[in-house]
Amino acid sequence: MSGNWHERPVEEVFSALKSAEHGLRAEEARERLARLGANALPEKNPESVFHIFARQFASPLIYVLFAAAAVVILMGQFADGLIIFGVLIFNALLGTVQEGRARNTLLALKKFTETFTTVVREGKEIIVPDTDVVRGDVVLLQEGEKVPADARVVVSRSLRLDEAALTGESVPVAKSPDPVEGEELTAASNMVFKGTHVVAGSGVALVVATGKETEMGRIAEAIAGAETEIPLQRDVRNLAKMIVLVVFSGAAILLGVGILLGQPLLQMFATVVSLTVSVIPEGLPIVMTLVLATGVWRMGKRHALVKRLAAVEALGQARVIAVDKTGTLTKNEMVVEKVHASDMLFSVEGVGYDPEGSVFVNDIPTVGTGYPELLRAAEIAALTANAHVQRTEEGLWRVAGDPTEAAMAVFAAKLGVYREALEERAPLTEEIPFDSNLKYHAIVRGKGPGAVAISGAPEVILALSSHVRRAGVSEPLSSAERKRLEETFLEMSGDGLRVVALAERGSPSELITPAHMKGLTFVAFLGLKDGLRAEVRGAMEKARAAGMRVVMVTGDHAATARAVAREAGILEEGDTILSGAEIDKMNDLRLREEVDRTSVFSRVTPEHKLRIIEAYRGNGTIVAMTGDGVNDAPSLVAADLGVAMGKIGTEVAKEAADIILLDDNFGSIVSAVEEGRSMYKTTKKVILYLFSTSLGEVITIAGALALAIPLPLLPAQIIWLNFVTDPFLDAGLAMDPKEKDLLTTGFKRPGKYLVDNLMAHRMLVMALPMALGTLFLFTVYLPEGFAKASTVALTVLAVFQWFNAWNCRSERDSVFRTNPFNNLYLIAATCIVISLQLLVVYHPLFQKLFHTVPLPLDDWLLIVPIASSIILVEEMRKIFVHALRTSKYFFSSRVSGVV
Ligand code: ADP
Ligand code: MG
Repeated sequence: MSGNWHERPVEEVFSALKSAEHGLRAEEARERLARLGANALPEKNPESVFHIFARQFASPLIYVLFAAAAVVILMGQFADGLIIFGVLIFNALLGTVQEGRARNTLLALKKFTETFTTVVREGKEIIVPDTDVVRGDVVLLQEGEKVPADARVVVSRSLRLDEAALTGESVPVAKSPDPVEGEELTAASNMVFKGTHVVAGSGVALVVATGKETEMGRIAEAIAGAETEIPLQRDVRNLAKMIVLVVFSGAAILLGVGILLGQPLLQMFATVVSLTVSVIPEGLPIVMTLVLATGVWRMGKRHALVKRLAAVEALGQARVIAVDKTGTLTKNEMVVEKVHASDMLFSVEGVGYDPEGSVFVNDIPTVGTGYPELLRAAEIAALTANAHVQRTEEGLWRVAGDPTEAAMAVFAAKLGVYREALEERAPLTEEIPFDSNLKYHAIVRGKGPGAVAISGAPEVILALSSHVRRAGVSEPLSSAERKRLEETFLEMSGDGLRVVALAERGSPSELITPAHMKGLTFVAFLGLKDGLRAEVRGAMEKARAAGMRVVMVTGDHAATARAVAREAGILEEGDTILSGAEIDKMNDLRLREEVDRTSVFSRVTPEHKLRIIEAYRGNGTIVAMTGDGVNDAPSLVAADLGVAMGKIGTEVAKEAADIILLDDNFGSIVSAVEEGRSMYKTTKKVILYLFSTSLGEVITIAGALALAIPLPLLPAQIIWLNFVTDPFLDAGLAMDPKEKDLLTTGFKRPGKYLVDNLMAHRMLVMALPMALGTLFLFTVYLPEGFAKASTVALTVLAVFQWFNAWNCRSERDSVFRTNPFNNLYLIAATCIVISLQLLVVYHPLFQKLFHTVPLPLDDWLLIVPIASSIILVEEMRKIFVHALRTSKYFFSSRVSGVV
């Protein structure tokens, strides 16, 4: 029973769906919800805990390890094989817990992004989450709202929808309830579709399909799971690949050399296998998830809701933040301040959306009808304003709808002109709602002169005008006069006002279309003021200090844009302003060159925005884009990072974005950048720790082979270190708090590789003492027997790792200068691994498994000081680097001082 909903009369659709105009019974709705499922788009199925657990084993390395364990058992080393198995399971458990935690954080955040719909059930209007809408529900559609499911239109009051989300076509489509024959369902003018939204009018619709049965659902199913990789993830993956390659060839060589040097085959095989597995950072993806999830949680505390986990990290690397003017930099609370009509400039008083206030000309209040153009301007403003201004219970004035239109309605109200009263005399018969491409809004009301009222961008309206109204009469517009009007609006724009032009024309013979919009009679300019947000200047300075460029992208006129950009501190000496028209004349290559010196883009359409974003990306610049409007959605998706405003943003923008700023505060973006950078640094710490300890172990084993002494560590011991000790310390490091100077000097922009020179140096600086210390102690103790010597080797390596984790916390600052108590997780992790090590050395069961013997206190007095050498060496490196840097600075300042 599907397919042809659009061809049948409304009554038939109601009966086919067993519904009625007063809606479903609540019980029936509940029953349908249970039977048909939630009205949600298909997502990647959430994995079960078991799945997550099973996935921990799905890695070629783990297979190798399993094979190795089997071989070891077959060769009679039962305990060793068992340990490998046990440790693998323990490691998988740990991974499952960490991943599960990260997932829960994300699920909790998802709740915030729920949207709601008004449905009629049992004759009552109720608000339900979109997911609870069922087939047969009667939904109410209002301007600005998203359509929750596919539905047949029952009532249309100039209902127009933007179906761009579905069709890519951004011209609004009019909807009416009449049946249509022969059309495709998707093109039917009496159907509305999930995911599209109402741009004008209102209506009632009957739901015919929900969830994945909807048109959107079908598309979503096709693209579900197509996730893009972020830079950091890609780097980590490349790194892991390289390591696997190097390690496997290294292992093969090691095995060959060991056998040639006469090491026992079995032991050599097991050692190489366990070493191979140890070196490869299987734990890395898990720790990465932990780092990302922690970042998300921290950003939530700063009112930035992260929808895509990976986005945070991309934000840390953003070089350009492209911001929308209206709403992001400004408050988006418009108020008409100036009116230019009939060669006169009027000032309008009043605060915000409060319709109290008078209109003055030359400081004298205008009363009565002495100014016909002013009154006419108020009428056009009222008629082309679809916004409602309401007083809340707390006595505040709130708007529903476009703030520009709200300001127009408020201005009209100040002159006693109300749309409702005008409509009572002659109702609207036609409407072209405002759209950023057309840049005007037109309505038809009644017949005769002035039947069409238009408001829109001044240069667009002037270009379409042939007449001008003055002192009650319409006169032809001379070119000198046109010039004067152009100057007037440039002057108003230069004061930072958003200018809207008002015009009229006689009744057209048929329905109005953009083709009729010529021969207009110009009536007035309105100058609207939108105050700059208080936090903008401070945030702008922070962004600049952090090495990010903020550029403004706006549909407003260049002169207005320039004034606001100056005030906000975006436009600096030497920056260019590029307009949409200029962009049109450029090819992509040219645009790429231009974007680097432009800080303001004016009079741009959504298509221009997209081109601008792509130009930055083409230059290899990571770009974040903020937006709130419906028309911003494509650019929000195209940008490396889309940021939507939570309060004033439309549902569509929020859905397209990666991050939502719950408080609409531009400053939150900058805080979010800080978090992103922190995550990048944390990842590097974690990697440094993992790799330096692994490298230390490899050098230890290789060294023993070279010295032709027995291998200091047994396979089970190596696995213990890497799968039990490491994960705790690594997870502790992942929780390291944010460093202080990430927005200024403390963040070096990532180079091509995750492991940079500094990191490679540090790995070596840490790995060498580890290997040397271990080999030294092992040879010292070897005369006391192998068991004793290898217990000491295992212990000293473990202690090296405890110290090393603390070493990895800072690149530059001494361990002794960082506050240990700001990472309680690392303290806890250290305590845990110390206890575990004591267990291995002193508990009889563990002694049996790991072939260890108890160590008297004296041994510890040797082990701990030797292990602490790793701190000493790294401290020396830090001092050396610091000295080098200051001497360089000293030297260069001396030189420039002389010159
Ligand atoms: P933005 O909102 O980013 O400034 P728009 O494309 O929405 O860009 O607006 C472009 C121009 O169109 C504005 O400068 C103004 O002159 C005019 N304008 C904007 N909104 C409306 C509206 N609702 N009705 C009439 N004119 C409008
Ligand atoms: Mg706009």
